[in-house]
Amino acid sequence: MQKTHILVTGSTRGIGAAVVQALEAKGAVVIGHGRTGAERVVAADLSDPAAAQALWDEALARLDGRIDVLINNAGVFEPVAVDAPLEDWHAGWARTLQINLQASADLCRAAILHFRERGAGGRIVNVASRAAYRGDSPQHWHYAASKAGMVGMTKSIARGYAAEQILAFAICPGFVMTGMAEDYLASRGGDKFLADIPLGRVATPEEVASAAAYLALEAPASMTGAVIDINGASFVR
Ligand code: NAD
Repeated sequence: MQKTHILVTGSTRGIGAAVVQALEAKGAVVIGHGRTGAERVVAADLSDPAAAQALWDEALARLDGRIDVLINNAGVFEPVAVDAPLEDWHAGWARTLQINLQASADLCRAAILHFRERGAGGRIVNVASRAAYRGDSPQHWHYAASKAGMVGMTKSIARGYAAEQILAFAICPGFVMTGMAEDYLASRGGDKFLADIPLGRVATPEEVASAAAYLALEAPASMTGAVIDINGASFVR
């Protein structure tokens, strides 16, 4: 049987690195992406509006012209204060929306066009956030908005292309202990913050990765459009 070919963005550390490991353990052939390239990693700075398409083209070439699954995982969580100068405010919003939402949308577009051309269907897994539903801190409206946008985009794709066997899923993690979360957790008072999570701990990258691998490789087609929460019951909807 043909191995599943998968592109994972932001795969050089954190959740993305765990996703690659989980997929490879299940026999998939993965091409990763980071800000710098490596043997199985395509370099692309997604703050550049042209980068997502170039990343897709390069990944497709490295995977012998076939991609079966796209996993949009790259993202930034950068603060901008409500009283920042308007120019900085605009720059913060534009950068977060570009990396978290527009680049993901461009990659979804490229994936759908490719899946259609091949006539074989395909899967998209978008790593969004609990913030899409719950909102985020006063310094992170733009982050929450980018992730809510990702969820809306995922549902639209699921509804729009299911008849062509193009499936789309989103994952909404709460806090996940990666470099990104460690700083935030410390800035929010560390252990006290954990009291808000009934499970008593933040999620691990491996927990998110196991959900991503399931959606990418095993989830039944009827699950298309599903949004999976991974947050220790810190936000139950
Ligand atoms: P991380 O900072 O460890 O990794 C983010 C990845 O995105 C890195 O590989 C990085 O290189 C890539 N990236 C960032 N900016 C980029 C750019 N301009 N161009 C190209 N690549 C870029 O973070 P993580 O915690 O592993 O996050 C992965 C995803 O999970 C993100 O989309 C994040 O929003 C989401 N998420 C994380 C948490 C958490 O608590 N860690 C919670 C909810 C959602």
